[in-house]
Amino acid sequence: MNLENIIEELNTRKTELESRLERTHKHIYQKDGPVSANFNEQVKETENDSLVMALDAEGAAELAQVRNALQRISDGVYQNCAHCGESISGDRLEAIPYTDSCIRCASQSNP
Ligand SMILES: [Zn+2]
Repeated sequence: MNLENIIEELNTRKTELESRLERTHKHIYQKDGPVSANFNEQVKETENDSLVMALDAEGAAELAQVRNALQRISDGVYQNCAHCGESISGDRLEAIPYTDSCIRCASQSNP
């Protein structure tokens, strides 16, 4: 397992997610524009809103995981499972860099 590559990957993902969240937050919370007069356009905007909100929630959850992984790396506990304390395999961390559980705990929580 190459920890430097993983850190780089996590940092890249973090930057991507932060800029995506900045855009979705602007879209959701900063509605300065006039409300559309046209009803069809309003419907479109509403559909778009729920899509953006889903993206926002998904991005926020992933960003929390990425930040948690970076914190775990700096704490020196990245390879320890947060649930049972066993070590997480390097293959697993390379495949899912933001995971905090070993394959056994992960399969128990997601049967
Ligand atoms: Zn475990």
